[in-house]
This record gives sequence, structure tokens and C-alpha cells, in this order.
Amino acid sequence: MLGLMQNWQLTVDKIIEHAAINHTNREIVTRSVEGPIVRTTYGNIFTRAKKVSNWLLGQGIKLGDRVASLAWNSGHHMESWYGTMGIGAIMHTLNPRLFPEQLVYIINHAEDKIIFTDLTFLPILEAIHDKCPCVKAFVVFTDGANMPPTKLPNCHAYEDILQGQSDISIWGNFEENTACGLCYTSGTTGNPKGVLYSHRTNVLHTLLTMGADVMGLTAGDVILPVVPMFHANAWGIAFSAPACGSKLVMPGAKMDGASIYELLETEKVTFSAAVPTVWLMLLQYLESTNQKLSTLKQVVIGGAALPEHILRSFEDKYGVGIRHAWGMTETSPLGTLGTPGPEAANYSREEIIKTKLKQGRSPFGVELKIKRDGKTVPRDGETFGNLMVRGAAIAGAYFKNEGGDILDEEGFFDTGDVATIDEHGYMQITDRSKDVIKSGGEWIGTIDIENCAVGCEGVACAAVIGIYHPKWDERPLLIIEKKAGANPTKEDLMAHLNGKIAKWWMPDDVRFVETIPLGATGKINKIALRETFKDLKFG
Ligand code: ADP
Repeated sequence: MLGLMQNWQLTVDKIIEHAAINHTNREIVTRSVEGPIVRTTYGNIFTRAKKVSNWLLGQGIKLGDRVASLAWNSGHHMESWYGTMGIGAIMHTLNPRLFPEQLVYIINHAEDKIIFTDLTFLPILEAIHDKCPCVKAFVVFTDGANMPPTKLPNCHAYEDILQGQSDISIWGNFEENTACGLCYTSGTTGNPKGVLYSHRTNVLHTLLTMGADVMGLTAGDVILPVVPMFHANAWGIAFSAPACGSKLVMPGAKMDGASIYELLETEKVTFSAAVPTVWLMLLQYLESTNQKLSTLKQVVIGGAALPEHILRSFEDKYGVGIRHAWGMTETSPLGTLGTPGPEAANYSREEIIKTKLKQGRSPFGVELKIKRDGKTVPRDGETFGNLMVRGAAIAGAYFKNEGGDILDEEGFFDTGDVATIDEHGYMQITDRSKDVIKSGGEWIGTIDIENCAVGCEGVACAAVIGIYHPKWDERPLLIIEKKAGANPTKEDLMAHLNGKIAKWWMPDDVRFVETIPLGATGKINKIALRETFKDLKFG
């Protein structure tokens, strides 16, 4: 027997429509790539998104067609995003930090028909457009007056395409499992693979992220998503902010400490989200200029492990609460959030710090298990193995079935991370399965060593890789990028690590490099580091 409730399809157009009706004048503030701060509202975004839909329909875009964006976070990006998804076309967010050859591969693999872009990315597209014959038109987020001459064929200024379009367009009217967004993983191994979100999974993910123990967003919040919309929908904030009616502050292209600080203060931001490297830049800026944060209350840090000194600085020095998050493109992306639960009520400050450094617990809708040698291991906080995930908004296959069957016999996806789960459900990542160091048959997690090393005075960034050792198979090498003007030595680092990590985890050597290379998603590029140190041998 079926229930007798209304069949309200879970489609994301309802999110922006809800915001437009109930939070009509709530602002979306953008630092435009042209420079000035521009303001719009959910009401305007909705109306203009409808115009985008009508222009796309006029271009022959249909249900299931891919429309791409190569753009920073902005109000315009949101309009084109909802205008695309509303008519059942698929918004494919391109990551501008990818190499041109990877962009060409992704655009052709996705068969993108139209690309919306910022002025800043015109040179990238001009260099590759002739290798992407599927793209029939380009739209630049600017007006006719600011549109530069370009080699791109069929290229329009955004304001020009909206001119004369009707703001009436029928949205929705398709099944909730219809594809809605496409985001490629950065492809550290093999070609990038497309994660194809559906309307239903994006709506469910929005609902689960809004929970008080998850992101805990409210209509009163002013949210600054530094995390880009091309990183799994700005960790869902491009949906959850309008769903809550929160004000949005979009940083555009500028993510340095001074620019982020200016927006945080002038727009009275209460909530923000970004990877650790962004927060390092902000903290360094605050320290060098001796400034305080007057409105920021909560920051979500994820995408890479949260270093202890970032947690302590934010909470103890600046009075900002930190939530550590783990997730990946394939998990929409939130998988766990590190909000201490009732068992932490009587914890000491040091125990709270230890708990918050773990990646956190899974909200309802995300199931986790740790698997080693084909078996699920106990939740004892010690036994580590491959982290597996199943849930309401988790990838079941990649676009065009790249990589084949990606689920185990119980329908869990292998995250490629190595982790433990404790008796309270806190998951802790110890490594990526491809980065873990296998020493004498045991596993050494590189993340702990790196986090500990960045706490040493004068260290800007730390990375650990395994180096061949004739007796132990592999041993850790610690690679350090120094802070400008600082000069930590190998002895300083070994003394700093001593006693903080297991003795047999202590690096066999420390090397200093000018800069530690980062990949397209801002994470340490260990493949490049392994290449640099490929001739080094221990023992
Ligand atoms: P890619 O796998 O291409 O880098 P993602 O941006 O989806 O793509 O990254 C997901 C990965 O990032 C996770 O599998 C995990 O290794 C890492 N990660 C994300 N959040 C954290 C975190 N809080 N701590 C440690 N690692 C994290």
C-alpha cells in the first residue's frame, strides 16, 4: 500500500523559488572580478535565472544537456546555475585550476554545449576552444561595455543575453532523479571522473547539511563560502544558503588574507567554509596586522586535515568555533562533521581539542564502515582500514560508467581514505590509501606527522612521503616549506616531533624545499613530491 501524501518532487529549482518568496530581499554580495562589490537579492537571482533559462532554451538546450561554468563564486554564477538546473539541463562546474589538457578532456567527456565564464578565464578558453568542438557558445559574466575583444567564436556578454528575455519560464516538471550537476574529481590517479548529482540527492544533501550538528545554518547567518562552487557545489552552500535564507557573501577571485578579512568585517559574516590553506593565509594576515574578527562565529574546515594550530588559534585567540569536516566530490560532499556530542560534556579542553581534530560523525543519511582484508573492523578508534561510505547522496557510479562498478557487495563506495571509527562514531582519517607508508608490515599515517610538523615554529607547510628502505620497505621522509624569513633546522623538527608521534613513525630524514606543490583542489601534490625525491634511498 502506498502512502497518501503529496508527491512533492525533490528538485533544486524549489530551493531558489523558496528563497525568492520567503527571503526576497536577503542579499547576495559579490566581489566582482572587475573590482567593485555588487549586490543582488534572492528575488533578483530568481528572476534573472528564469531569463537565463529562456536564453538557454532559445539556444536549443534540452533536458539532460550539459552547460558548463568556469567561474568564481558570484551572484551571476548562481543565476546561471539555477537557470540551467531549473530546465533540467546539467550544470557542469569546471575547475579553473586544472591544467588546460585536463579541461579539454573534461569538456569533451561531458560534451558541454555552452560555457559561462568570468572575464579572468578568457585566456584559458581562447587557448583551448578549438580542441572542444562540442561547445557551441560562450557567455562572459560582464556587460557589453566591459566585454573585451576575444577570439572565442559565438561569445556573448552575459547582460546582453539577458536583455529582452522573459522572466517567465516553467521549471521542474521532471522526475526528481533527473541529473542536475556534474563535477569531476581532480584525477590524482588516471583521468578525472565525473560525479553526476541528481536533483533528489542535492535536495537531500541540502537538508542533511542544515542540521544543527552539521552546518547548523540559519536565516540570520551571513555566509562566506570561500570554498568554490566548482568544489561540489561549494560544499552544498550554493543550495543550503538559499534554502535557509542566509545572506551570501561571494569572494570572487580574491582569496588572500586581506581580501577575505575585509569581506568578513564589512559584510558582518557569521559563518564561513574553506580548506586549511585559506585559513592559514587569513591567520597569518590577522597576526601580522594585529586585527580581530568581530562577527565571525563558526568556520567549517575540510578538504584536508585540520591542523591543530589553526583550531587553537581560531578558538582560543579569535573566539571563532571550528567544525572539522570530511567529504569528497563523490559524497556531495559532506560525509562527516566534527561536532562534539553529549559524551564530551565533561571533557577537558585538551580532550575537546583531540575530539575536534577527528573528522567527525556522519549525519543521518550517511553510513560509514571501515574495511580491512574484506572484513568490517570494530569501532574501537584504533583499528584502521579502508573507509567505505553509503547513503542518500553518495555516488553509485561515475559518468559514462568510467571506472566500472565502484560499490562493494553491500553497496558501499571505497573512499580511498584510510581511517578509524571510535565507539562514539567519530571517524578519523589516518591517510589516503595511496599515501599510507608501509613500514615493516605496519602502516604509518602521514597526516598525523604533517599536522604535528606544521606546529613547529617557522614551518609554512609540511608533507610526508614514503621512501624505499631495504629493510623496512618504506620509511617516512619529511619535506618542509619554511615561512618567509624563518629558518627551522632538521634538529628543530625532530625535537618538535619527538614524543608527539610514535617512535617508529619518526621521519628518517627532513628535506627543505622552496615550495610544496599543490594540486588543483589546493591539496599537497604528493605525486610531484615523489617525482622530486625519486632517487633518494634510505638505509
Ligand atoms: P580528490 O580525491 O580528487 O582530491 P576531493 O576534492 O573530492 O577530490 O577530495 C576528497 C578527499 O580529500 C578525501 O577522500 C580525503 O582524502 C581528503 N579530505 C577531505 N576532507 C578531509 C579532512 N577533513 N581530513 C583529511 N582528509 C580530507
